[in-house]
Amino acid sequence: MGRKLVAGNWKMNGTNADLKEIEALGIAWAAPRVDIVICPPATLVSRMAFALGGQPIRVGGQDCHAEESGAHTGDISAEMLKDAGARYVIVGHSERRADHHETDEMVRAKAEAAHKAGLTAIICLGESLEQREAGETLDVVGRQLAASLPDGATASNTVVAYEPIWAIGTGKVPSVEQIAEVHGALRAGLAERFAGEADGIRLLYGGSVKPDNAAEIFGVENVDGALVGGASLKSTDFSPIVSALE
Ligand code: PEP
Repeated sequence: MGRKLVAGNWKMNGTNADLKEIEALGIAWAAPRVDIVICPPATLVSRMAFALGGQPIRVGGQDCHAEESGAHTGDISAEMLKDAGARYVIVGHSERRADHHETDEMVRAKAEAAHKAGLTAIICLGESLEQREAGETLDVVGRQLAASLPDGATASNTVVAYEPIWAIGTGKVPSVEQIAEVHGALRAGLAERFAGEADGIRLLYGGSVKPDNAAEIFGVENVDGALVGGASLKSTDFSPIVSALE
């Protein structure tokens, strides 16, 4: 198992003025014992990477197109993110699956594009409340895992984020038993398909992670870190979450 990872997803939030949050993080985490990634909107990737300079905090995109270039107005490719200074890219976030009708096949193609560009793909999956209540969670995430991860996934190019849709931005968090059950099933699914790489592919939990619940979540077996939305926008919220993982 490699280093643990905390990734912040700023979603459609942030302008140049918010780069001060990155300066504060850079000062607080000059030599972190865990990997730290911030995924700002595409407009800030380049400036954030520049602002971080040689510091260990990495920058990621929130999505990429599956193709390298071409007639896709408004989209950006994994190569462009790499060129702008990104090292990671989130693919398959539930908001993109919902808002842009992204299927597992599309997510897999995006992850392949990320790998080709030399980026680490943070591949998101997770069940809806309806699926959870119908007892379908393990089937749903198992199918998503199988269909969204490319065959070339390795410990260094792939991170999986389990994000129950009903926990994102709601303040609701699954019980530690529920998180353990899903993460255990995901680890077993990875082991079946990726053998030697499976233990190294980091499994993040995402959905209403906050400073006051992070330590409990990080104590769950097979949780290798977190994907954090709302609480990643302010360094005063994000830093205690990083501390809880250290
Ligand atoms: C997310 O958007 O990936 C997320 C986990 O959001 P939040 O932490 O705000 O629930």
